[in-house]
Amino acid sequence: MRVNVITLGCSKNLIDSERVLKLFEDAGIEAVHEAPHANGDIVVVNTCGFIGDAKEESINTILEYAEAKNDGLIDALYVMGCLSQRYADDLPAEIPEVDKWYGKFDWLQIVSDILSVSNENAKYDRVITTPPHHAYLKIAEGCNRFCAFCAIPIITGRFTSRSIEDIVEEVKTLVSRGVKEFNIIAQDLSSYGLDLYGEMKLAELVDTLADIPGVKWLRLHYAYPSQFPMDILDVMARRDNVCKYLDIALQHINDKVLDNMRRHITSQETHELIGEMRRRVPGLHLRTTLMVGFPGEGEDEFNELLEFVKEAKFERMGAFAYCEEDDTYAARHFEDNITDDVKQDRLSQIMAAQEQIALDLNEAKIGQTIEVIIDREEEDYYVGRTQWDSPEVDPEVLIEKDYELEIGEFYDVVIKLAMPFELIAKIAD
Ligand code: SF4
Repeated sequence: MRVNVITLGCSKNLIDSERVLKLFEDAGIEAVHEAPHANGDIVVVNTCGFIGDAKEESINTILEYAEAKNDGLIDALYVMGCLSQRYADDLPAEIPEVDKWYGKFDWLQIVSDILSVSNENAKYDRVITTPPHHAYLKIAEGCNRFCAFCAIPIITGRFTSRSIEDIVEEVKTLVSRGVKEFNIIAQDLSSYGLDLYGEMKLAELVDTLADIPGVKWLRLHYAYPSQFPMDILDVMARRDNVCKYLDIALQHINDKVLDNMRRHITSQETHELIGEMRRRVPGLHLRTTLMVGFPGEGEDEFNELLEFVKEAKFERMGAFAYCEEDDTYAARHFEDNITDDVKQDRLSQIMAAQEQIALDLNEAKIGQTIEVIIDREEEDYYVGRTQWDSPEVDPEVLIEKDYELEIGEFYDVVIKLAMPFELIAKIAD
């Protein structure tokens, strides 16, 4: 028997898949991640269900394996994750080839159902599917923010923090297995601890993790701007192994649009927050996510957003066009009346402005000596990242092959050339 786990969606989903892999491994079953399917495999598809394109990809992947099952190429097909959580009532009838459906929280059951063993007391553990020197670290699940456009709270339920003790134990285990870089994630990092400790504990958590020997880089993702835990900024400034990097989705800057989005923050508060962050954490690189085409965004509101991008000069930025999601506040209260053409045009204006900013900021790094971690070797270059580059979403550094370098090790490099989303470097003498 071999179990092949397929992960769709975000890094939070990836961790769930890694835990499933570990449970099978601990039960003595060969478990692989996203291998080409082999005859007789048991396939587990971990789905994403928060937005149109992601839902479509999940459905198509399930159908692909349903066909493989009908052709006798795989033995069994199990589905888990956000799509099956969200559409638990409809999917079984639509795709009867699936042996069993699990949601976002009951997937531990998969192993006991397949192997008829109980794993009630299974330890929180996982197989690392990312390169062995870096791993995602999920500190909480769920979200209480209910932004107007977002279906995630409907899928993941209330915000639930993991205890500091549990997270520390996991990090110590992963360090002992060679992980040096931890990308800290949740749906809403800012609220960490509020539910469990009655107060925001992100700063205390990160300070504690930074004390663990062997933790080389801690990087923060998915912060929320309203009620932001300002004390984390001092930890970021003070601790060398906490990356001067913060991923914080702002979505928009116009007051009316922010209000329609139910983001609980104003344009002025956003400007003040960014100013304070940059003042208290020298060298801070901000990654943000913006949305165009939300109902109520006229030409003036969009131009305000475009000016904001040019003025704020985010080091890293992603942007998306609004996509109406069923059962969300926006779907119930607003008409999605901005055409796709207008949305795409606004998106390309934002991304064009950002590309120039990214190039200017990267060119300013030419001649600097910067520490990188080596992720992989390619024909002409080693590929690495700085503390300001999160895996898979941010720029990479291409390092000339003057010396033999070790994957997963840190080196100082000198930046020689800059492109908008890439740097060329050589090993510092
Ligand atoms: S904070 Fe993020 S996950 Fe939560 S509702 Fe808003 S967009 Fe969705």
